Amino acid sequence: MLLKKYTIPDEVSCVTKTLKNAGFKAFLVGGCVRDLLIGRTPKDWDVATDADPKKITELFPSTFYENDYGTVGVVNETEDPKLKIVEVTPFRIEGAYSDARRPDKVAFSDSLEEDLKRRDFTINAIALDQREDGSVSIIDPYDGQGDTLRGIVRAVGDPCERFAEDGLRLLRAVRIASELGFKIEEKTRQAILKKAHILQKISAERIRDEFIRILMSDRPDDGIEMAQKLGILKHFIPELEEGIGVEQNKAHAFDVWTHLMKTLRHSNSKKWPLDIRLAALFHDIAKPMTRRKNPKTGEWTFYGHDVVGSRVTRVVLDRLKFPKDTVDKVVKLVRWHMFFSDTELITLSAVRRMINNVGRENIWDLMNVRACDRIGTGRPKESPYRLRKYKAMVEEAMKDPVSVSMLKINGGTIMKTANIPPGPKIGHILHALLEEVLEDPGLNSVDYLEKRAVELSKMPEDELKKIGEKGKEKKDELEEKDIDEIRKKYWVK
Ligand code: ATP
Ligand code: MG
Repeated sequence: MLLKKYTIPDEVSCVTKTLKNAGFKAFLVGGCVRDLLIGRTPKDWDVATDADPKKITELFPSTFYENDYGTVGVVNETEDPKLKIVEVTPFRIEGAYSDARRPDKVAFSDSLEEDLKRRDFTINAIALDQREDGSVSIIDPYDGQGDTLRGIVRAVGDPCERFAEDGLRLLRAVRIASELGFKIEEKTRQAILKKAHILQKISAERIRDEFIRILMSDRPDDGIEMAQKLGILKHFIPELEEGIGVEQNKAHAFDVWTHLMKTLRHSNSKKWPLDIRLAALFHDIAKPMTRRKNPKTGEWTFYGHDVVGSRVTRVVLDRLKFPKDTVDKVVKLVRWHMFFSDTELITLSAVRRMINNVGRENIWDLMNVRACDRIGTGRPKESPYRLRKYKAMVEEAMKDPVSVSMLKINGGTIMKTANIPPGPKIGHILHALLEEVLEDPGLNSVDYLEKRAVELSKMPEDELKKIGEKGKEKKDELEEKDIDEIRKKYWVK
C-alpha cells in the first residue's frame, strides 16, 4: 500500500532528522502512521528510536521526561497544539506483565522489530522511515497496511496473551474501531469475549478516557453496542445493560436500550458536546428499575425514572472519575429531561421555574437533549410546534425586562444629585430618562444621566409626569415587539 497523499510537518521531520544526523535510527510509529495511510489527520506524532532517553535529551534544546517508559517530549516552538510536543520513545522490549496493567520492567532495545512486536494492534504497529531525498519506506511486519485497507482491528501476536498483559487494550480495540469505523477481527473478538473481565483491573481514569473517545467518535452508539456485545460494558457501566429488552408502551417503538442508543446517535448527528452525549445516553437509565404495570390499564409506568436516573447517573460518573462540573451538569439534564412542554397548559412562570431548576446556563442544552430524545423515540421531527413554542417561552422568560433598572443611575443617586426628597417625582424622572435612553442607548452614562436628572427635576411635576408616561408606553411597546420577534423566530404564535 502506498501513501498517496501525505504531509509530515517540518516540526516532526526535524526531530527524526536530528536523531539520524547523530547516528541513530528514527521512525514514525503508531497512530500517526495509521492515520496517514487512511488519510486522517493524526492526533499526535510519535517517534521511536534506538537512542536512550539521556541521548535524546542531549540532542534537543527543550525537552522533558514524560513517563516511566523512557518517553521524552520534544518541545517545538509552534502554535499548533498537535506539534507542540513530539513524543520520542526509545525502542522497547517489555518484560512480563503480572498485574494486567503495566509491564514489571521496561527494557530498551536497539531493534525496531522488537518495538513493533509489543504494540497492541497491527494497524498501530507500522513504522515509517523518511529518507533524505524525501521519499518514505514502510516497515510493516504484521500486515498492518492490509488490515488498514480492509478496515480491521487485529491484535499483534496471540490476542489472548496481549489482552492478558494489558486490559486497557480491550477498550482500546473498541475505541479505535468506533473512531475509524473498523471491524474487530474474529480471533481478536473471541479473545476480548474471553478476557473481558480483565478490564476490572484497569483504573477508572484510563477507562473514562477511552469511554469519552467512544462517545465523541462518529459512531458512538456502534461503539457502546460493540462494548456490550463483547462483554466489556458490564465491567464499567453495568447499569446501562439493564435496559436491554425492557419494553415500553405503544408510544415507544423501541426497548429502553435501543432507545438510548438511538438518542445517543442523534446527539452525534448534531455534533453535540460531551455533556449532551452523556445525558442522551443516560437519560432513561433508571427506567428498568422504576417500571411498574398499571393494574387498571395494563400499561407500563416509569414514575420517578428522572429522579432515580439522575442519582444513578451521578453514581456512574463519579465512579468513572468525571470532573465535578460535568457530573453536576449531566445529572441536572437527566433530572429535568421530562419537563412538561404542553404549551397550551403551562404558563410563563412554570417555564421560569424550569429555567431555575436546570439553570440558565443549561436550559438550551436541556432543549437539545429533548430533541435527541424525540428522535431516539422514532418521532419524525426534532422540534414540533409545541417544542418550538416552549423554546419561544424560554427565550421570553430569559430576556432581561426593559425597565428603569437598565439605567446607569438609580433613584438614590437622583435624590442626592438633584437634591429632592423621596416621592413619585423620582419615578417620573427615571421613566423620562428611560425614554431618552431607549431612543439613543449612547446616552446611558452616569455623567449624562446625572446632569439630565438635575435638569428634569426643575420641571413642573405634571409636565414631568407626562414625559414619564411616554417612557412607560415606549417600554411596553418595545417589549411587545421583542416578544413578537422571538415568536417569529420559532415560527409560533
Ligand atoms: P491516537 O493518537 O489517535 O490516540 P494512537 O493509536 O496513536 O491513537 P496512542 O495512545 O497515541 O494511540 O498510542 C501510540 C501508539 O502506542 C499506538 O498506536 C500503539 O502502537 C502503542 N500503544 C498505545 N497504547 C498501547 C497499549 N496499551 N498496548 C500496546 N501498545 C500501545
Ligand atoms: Mg497517537
